[in-house]
Amino acid sequence: MADGRHRAAQPANTYDATTLTTEFEQLMRNKRFNRLQEQSRSRPGSQSPVSSMSSPMPPPPSRAPPPPPSFGASPTHPSPQPSTPSPSLRGLPIMPSPPQDPASLKFYNLLKGLSVTPTKYENPGLLDEALCLIPLDRLYSEAEEESQIMQAQAASIGGKPEWGYQDCVIRALLRWFKRSFFQFVNNPPCSNCHMPTIAQGMTPPTPDETARGASRVELYRCAEASCGAYERFPRYSDVWQLLQSRRGRVGEWANCFSMFCRAVGARVRWVWNSEDHVWTEVYSEHQRRWVHVDACEEAWDQPRLYTEGWRRKLSYCIAFSIDGATDVTRRYVRSFGKHGTPRTRAPEEVVLWSIHEIRRKRRENMSKTDQRRLIKEDEREEKELRGYMASALAAEINGLLPRSMVGGRADEQKHPGGRQEVAREWAGAQQRGPGNSGPDRSGGR
Ligand SMILES: [Zn+2]
Repeated sequence: MADGRHRAAQPANTYDATTLTTEFEQLMRNKRFNRLQEQSRSRPGSQSPVSSMSSPMPPPPSRAPPPPPSFGASPTHPSPQPSTPSPSLRGLPIMPSPPQDPASLKFYNLLKGLSVTPTKYENPGLLDEALCLIPLDRLYSEAEEESQIMQAQAASIGGKPEWGYQDCVIRALLRWFKRSFFQFVNNPPCSNCHMPTIAQGMTPPTPDETARGASRVELYRCAEASCGAYERFPRYSDVWQLLQSRRGRVGEWANCFSMFCRAVGARVRWVWNSEDHVWTEVYSEHQRRWVHVDACEEAWDQPRLYTEGWRRKLSYCIAFSIDGATDVTRRYVRSFGKHGTPRTRAPEEVVLWSIHEIRRKRRENMSKTDQRRLIKEDEREEKELRGYMASALAAEINGLLPRSMVGGRADEQKHPGGRQEVAREWAGAQQRGPGNSGPDRSGGR
């Protein structure tokens, strides 16, 4: 992920509309070349940065922060730098840079704090307790059945099954978690008379609630006049506690479900979104990539659900795991023009530095072999994420977005399930309709 943020795509080998891509690249290349020529004419003696020509696409507007003061100062920068960086050069690869202003430092500290969440799952006692609650036999046999069906389907058309057995275990876990284990709570019912309650605002946690990991407690009052009892709703972030309470909103769902994925042996990520949503990613050994999983929605591999389904605009989606952190925004926001919102919390150089810093910390005690493996994986993912952008950009300029192109041809080569995924996504969005579960849940992570 290191350098690619703004370098956009290589001529897309993962994309079959080669002509479209080539035309677009040519267009951007000409535009940029003219700009650079103009620049070098107005600045005699400065070297024309021809090497930047290898990056044909500019960053989408919402992802181009103003360059920080240190931008051109790095001695290790791969490209020739004019003395004063110009906005037209923002397309160059960015260099990580530590936070230097209060806002950047605040954002780094926020990410550092969030990065601790998945480390809490690495507790054998906790995972054992979780395993005791999961009906493993049932999930394993469901997974076995589903995976055999997929194998048979694949064999009949001479291909590879879409998902492996391990993926099917997580899919079974997802169904059970959503349908039988965890409860979604807007206003908690009155525990006295079970009638609906009305929100009264926040109230300070009791020592007991604090001890059990609730830093925020919501207060409700029974709507039944003859009762009028108060109902407390502590927002627990402690996964032990969630095994007991088994209820909450998106935050509790994602936290507890991610831990359950870990308990059944998956590699897991807890994904934080700056627009107040959280979800899970699970690594599929079968597909060799990270797969989006949203327990609240029982959504499997539908990364465009939030933007193209719910019409949300997102700025940052950062995935945290015991192996580090990754900016996975491009997996969820395929078109920044349409679904992105400006990333103003910190310069991109600082975001990159923060991600690297969290990775460094998580990986410092690993063997060299493991470190190398993770670097390879980071690189592979970076390529995947770049591929999404290239496809979406090429499709956009050709006016084919959204329905005919998004996820259809562009994604299909990479992910055989591409078209199905989109179909499910749109179906889900339509079923949900306005004011239904999706967007309504945003308020209460
Ligand atoms: Zn009541």
